[in-house]
Amino acid sequence: QTQECQARDRAHHLHPFTDFKALGEEGSRVITRAEGVYIHDSRGHRILDGMAGLWCVNLGYGRQELVEAAREQLEQLPYYNTFFKTTHPPAVRLAEKLCELAPAHMNHVFFTGSGSEANDTVLRMVRRYWALQGKPGKRWIIGRENGYHGSTVAGMSLGGMAPMHDQGGPCVPEIAHIRQPYWFGEGRDQSPEAFGRACAEALEAKILELGEENVAAFIAEPVQGAGGAIMPPASYWPAIKAVLAKHDILLVADEVICGFGRLGEWFGSQHFGLEPDLMPIAKGLSSGYLPIGGVLVGDRVADTLIEEGGEFFHGFTYSGHPACAAVALKNLELLEAEGVVERVRDDVGPYLARRWAELADHPLVGEARSLGLMGALELVADKATGSRFDKSLAAGNLCRDICFDAGLVMRSVGDTMIIAPPLVITRQEIDELVRLARRALDETAVRLAK
Ligand code: PLP
Repeated sequence: QTQECQARDRAHHLHPFTDFKALGEEGSRVITRAEGVYIHDSRGHRILDGMAGLWCVNLGYGRQELVEAAREQLEQLPYYNTFFKTTHPPAVRLAEKLCELAPAHMNHVFFTGSGSEANDTVLRMVRRYWALQGKPGKRWIIGRENGYHGSTVAGMSLGGMAPMHDQGGPCVPEIAHIRQPYWFGEGRDQSPEAFGRACAEALEAKILELGEENVAAFIAEPVQGAGGAIMPPASYWPAIKAVLAKHDILLVADEVICGFGRLGEWFGSQHFGLEPDLMPIAKGLSSGYLPIGGVLVGDRVADTLIEEGGEFFHGFTYSGHPACAAVALKNLELLEAEGVVERVRDDVGPYLARRWAELADHPLVGEARSLGLMGALELVADKATGSRFDKSLAAGNLCRDICFDAGLVMRSVGDTMIIAPPLVITRQEIDELVRLARRALDETAVRLAK
């Protein structure tokens, strides 16, 4: 049955971020059901989902309240749009709730169907803002190398993933990138603090190169997720904030991964004391049960759009989709009622930090870091020098596959191993996660030594 499903899948299904040819040889794993923090495959294996799907199933699998919210809304009003002066109660309630949870200066939201669409919206919104301010020259947006902001043309252009830029370009013009605050990978010749400041200096240098009068915004994830769970040095964000304030440049904090509790606050920006002008959101907004995204808009931008703007020629068929909005609202209510975010901050986050740090003693691990419920391991060939494995060994992918077979989903980004489990994970399940990760590291070491 599994093989038949794989063959049919292979025949007709082009998967995202997948080497089609490799899939032809191996076939996909077939996931059939899930509950809590576990997924199940068609061969009867139970696997601890250390990635919460794609960093999104914050509330865990199998929550009947979310199923019920979708069902009720689909019966009541399965679809209506929010274009041309129409609205509906689920979109209104969700907008209200999001603005209640967001920082005090954010009182509006624009809904989208995904995080990528949210970043397309950001790109158009910031350029429009400056045009309405009488500064139409301010069009450049600065992102970061290895940042990820989605797969639409604007999303991948804002992101700094070179292999994406190389396929199907050209990218959207007037977007530049600066270095990422990846101390382990790129900054070990300096202290983390000095490196963090150097990254902010790179931002200022780029602004001066482009001309302050031409730069609209800086976009970054509070913690870079898909790029490798890159937690910036403590000096980084304060220095970046100072540069942006000095040159009057908008800050876009992409909260698609960091939002809704991942780092132990409702938004990652709050952990770092940021006051973004715009926050793209998606994923954990609905715990991934139905697709929905949006952009939270600060008063500075919203007031201009509303008071000076007239019609904004932008929107999606599924902007504020009633069933997705109803599920997202219920998800936020449950996260709040169950104190999930506080639990990440005060209990399971610190517990994971303690247990995850123990993996730093493993011969393959050059660094073990975590924040809230996001963690990373840097695989190294030589622990003393921190030198990497030869790329041809694909050590990270090897470790990822061993891990999956052993019953744990960990993601690999090059030779960086990542976890971001559902926020409802228990201490006992964290123990299991760490035990499985260590076992996979042992097995990876044996296989690499052959
Ligand atoms: N922004 C960030 C930070 C992301 O991690 C992602 C997806 O991983 C996106 C945007 C794109 O979101 P979506 O896949 O919903 O379009």
